[in-house]
Amino acid sequence: MSVSNSVFSSRIKGSLRGVTLLALTALTTLTAVDVYSAETGTLQAAADSLSASKVKSVAFTGSGSWYQFGQAPSPTTAWPKFDVSSYSATINYETAAAHVQITRKQAIEAGRLRPAPVEQKADQYVNGTTAWNIGGTPVAAQPQPAAVEEREAEIWTTPQGFLRAAAANKAASTSVNGGTVVSFTLGGYRYVGTINNQNQVESVQTWIDNPILGDTTYETSYSDYKAFNGVNFPTHIVRKLGGYPVLDLNVDSVSINAEAKISVPPEVSSASAPKITVTSDQLAPGVFYLKGGTHHSVAIEQKDYVVLVEAPLNEARSEALIAKIKEIIPNKPITTVVNTHQHFDHSGGLRTFVDAGATIVTQQLNKPYYEKAWAAPHTINPDRLAKSHKAAKFQTFGDNWILTDGRRFIEIYQIAGSGHNDAFALVYLPGEKILIEADAFTPTAVGAPLPSPVNPYTVNLYDNIKRLNLDVQQIAALHGPRVTTLADLKEAIGQSSIAGK
Ligand SMILES: [Zn+2]
Repeated sequence: MSVSNSVFSSRIKGSLRGVTLLALTALTTLTAVDVYSAETGTLQAAADSLSASKVKSVAFTGSGSWYQFGQAPSPTTAWPKFDVSSYSATINYETAAAHVQITRKQAIEAGRLRPAPVEQKADQYVNGTTAWNIGGTPVAAQPQPAAVEEREAEIWTTPQGFLRAAAANKAASTSVNGGTVVSFTLGGYRYVGTINNQNQVESVQTWIDNPILGDTTYETSYSDYKAFNGVNFPTHIVRKLGGYPVLDLNVDSVSINAEAKISVPPEVSSASAPKITVTSDQLAPGVFYLKGGTHHSVAIEQKDYVVLVEAPLNEARSEALIAKIKEIIPNKPITTVVNTHQHFDHSGGLRTFVDAGATIVTQQLNKPYYEKAWAAPHTINPDRLAKSHKAAKFQTFGDNWILTDGRRFIEIYQIAGSGHNDAFALVYLPGEKILIEADAFTPTAVGAPLPSPVNPYTVNLYDNIKRLNLDVQQIAALHGPRVTTLADLKEAIGQSSIAGK
């Protein structure tokens, strides 16, 4: 699924962080000058060199590359690249607010069949503990609570932002070869930066929470500093999140202390926290389509236990799924969770089921990925597994696997040759003729226009259905508004008589 970074971040720490950020804002405003005058050594020299105490806001533009975090096409590759034709950021250090606009288009990897790239425009805001986007049809402000951490990190890791926050938060400095390492804690988040011997901030690292990666490294390096109206600012910015690039920007304009009023829209400040809902539709006896929000799952009742297909998003979603399953299938444990692929929006809830004692069924390439990722510390937002430290149980497969209680068969097949992901699975119930799949075919609402041009992932899914000789009657897609049929899938790829093929 094509979604912005923010979807993959988990909940933030809530009000504690809010209080601290506000405190920081006040402290920075009131005492920055005093702190700088009292400070000696590298931090002072860098602050002078970058005019940190004078820079209340910065706006910069550029172009380069952006990469979609959590959507690697295989468990062993970097995040997929998008070409950025324009990037513009406005950051207000006094109000801890930022506005970033990105125009980007996916850069398709050689040999990988993906949908034809379309230009995307992201319009993202944060102010203290409130994040929102402007977009959609009709255009509206959309709260983005899961994006607060990442967007605040962008503010305090910029060179001037880092130096201002260092001055306001009793930073510690240590000399290292060729520079100085400066570190401090802000709102429970640790920041560590390196200042080089030219008094430039060379890199800054912090850590934000992610449901899969835990404490996730957010590291930005700055180079090729130039003076813009007397203020030094880097013209090359490279950022990595979770070890792989998310941004590589060549800066072409910088303006200092320009108007940077970034106010929370009233409809965002008055919005209540989104409710997590799970609804259940029975597709066949003991087969429940669990919908709600953007990502769905399917619960399958076996003789003595429950098999769940997909644990998307995060622990909150998993807790809601567990509660719903208890209600519709009482007194049977969820012993098995089938994972379609490792994109973060489809695997972010798995850790909760590991803690609950379930076995994770996934394509064999994914197991080492999860084992490594899940071993990382989860100190920012500890989840159930971070507290229980239970070992994950896996059942892996290459081309296919069958789960059965002797009565109902649950067949799992690798979706071969899909450009979406290299370790990608579908689930088929031969007794009920039900296909369960994610991201290969997402149905549209009744009467909505069909995808145009045709989505190659859907064509590939159809090829796999034919290759495997699956007799499909219902399709329970893990995105989208409704259960469909093979005829709907064929129509979406122009193969039906209705579409004139
Ligand atoms: Zn996906």
